[in-house]
Amino acid sequence: MEVVDTVAAFTKALEAARDDRRTVGLVPTMGALHAGHRALIAQAAAECDVVAVTIFVNPLQFSDPSDLAHYPRTEERDLAACEAEGAAIVFVPPVTEMYPGGPHVPATTVSVAGVAGPWEGAGRPGHFDGVATVVAKLFSMAGRCRAYFGEKDFQQLAVVRRLSADLAMPVEVVGCPTVREPDGLARSSRNVRLSAPERRAATVLFRALTAGCAAVEAGERRPQALSAVMAGVVAAEPLAALEYAAAVDADDLCVPDTLDPARPARLLIAARLGAVRLIDNCDPWKGPEP
Ligand code: AMP
Repeated sequence: MEVVDTVAAFTKALEAARDDRRTVGLVPTMGALHAGHRALIAQAAAECDVVAVTIFVNPLQFSDPSDLAHYPRTEERDLAACEAEGAAIVFVPPVTEMYPGGPHVPATTVSVAGVAGPWEGAGRPGHFDGVATVVAKLFSMAGRCRAYFGEKDFQQLAVVRRLSADLAMPVEVVGCPTVREPDGLARSSRNVRLSAPERRAATVLFRALTAGCAAVEAGERRPQALSAVMAGVVAAEPLAALEYAAAVDADDLCVPDTLDPARPARLLIAARLGAVRLIDNCDPWKGPEP
């Protein structure tokens, strides 16, 4: 496995792979790798000849400076995880390599309208501009490839699909299922910041999604009623504060008049457990991943 920290070396390594007629899989991450990231790398390794993982805590996508300051960093363990899952190249650029003008807003940014607006976009101003900008840069450096993203960040996946299509990037975006803890909590790099009581309470997101899916199964089709079911579960958990719970169209992330079994939909939820903000989502027709 080759570890590179310059754009030139990263681009050259992937160009060399394509020159050898090998397909490239790209897995962008912010490090602190867990089983969710490992599943993305493993899927990329199963479907592509050469897998490149990028590890970059992107300052541009943090609207909360304390969240950035406390973001876990575990580079040595991350490199071992990349190697174990079959990555051939890991790109670990310093901030100055990604933003030579400094970790401020660069002159050129990418902003996705529509899908980036509601939910996470509304709660975290500037977040998706930061994501879209860094992903556009990584795609541009990587060149033709398949890029693997988790459904765990469902709106982010929608934003990345949109930007790749709109900017005619030579990148096929692949969505991968959410990996959960045995009690249903979606794996997240932020879970390590939960206290023991908050960690126990954090299953409330999964429980709310499960209750929402049970209501759909029982015939409920009204998005507002499904939001209320999920909100009720969170309200019963004293350590959790709900930010939003919604039933949306899976493509445009808008709330439809009614859920239509012929159309893909998604239940979305965000809540705070103390200082930690968690998100989760699932397909209401199938239920959360086991
Ligand atoms: P992050 O390091 O949090 O920016 O995440 C990097 C990639 O891993 C993104 O595509 C995430 O959606 C994905 N990811 C994070 N957590 C999970 C999970 N629990 N299951 C599947 N993918 C995940």
